[in-house]
Amino acid sequence: MTDQLCECGSNLPAEACCLPYLNSLRAPQTAEALMRSRYTAFVMRDETYLLNTWLDSERPSHLEFDDRRWIGLKINSTRIGTEHDDEGWVNFTARYKVNGRAYRLEEQSHFVRKDGQWYYDKAEG
Ligand SMILES: [Zn+2]
Repeated sequence: MTDQLCECGSNLPAEACCLPYLNSLRAPQTAEALMRSRYTAFVMRDETYLLNTWLDSERPSHLEFDDRRWIGLKINSTRIGTEHDDEGWVNFTARYKVNGRAYRLEEQSHFVRKDGQWYYDKAEG
């Protein structure tokens, strides 16, 4: 387990990447880090983490996980969203399979930082 690569595709060990965020040991410092950790949370079906990192105005009351099996994340581009910003955008492609068929989801996500904590707002454009 210790040297297992992170699900988010960073090529880093999970424990040096998204796991400390999911385990509330650390908070992501950039919008991209939050994006990666939320993808990993979808892979691991960590509803608590996903809801806790959702901007309250957009947060659903609960999440239903469907039959999607997430198989890869690629960050296409980022716009601001550094540790010095209060908002940022991440454009990504996530690949998944349902019943053996492969699909891809491309999204431009908007993130907001409040009280030093990054939150997912919603998909934009
Ligand atoms: Zn990761």
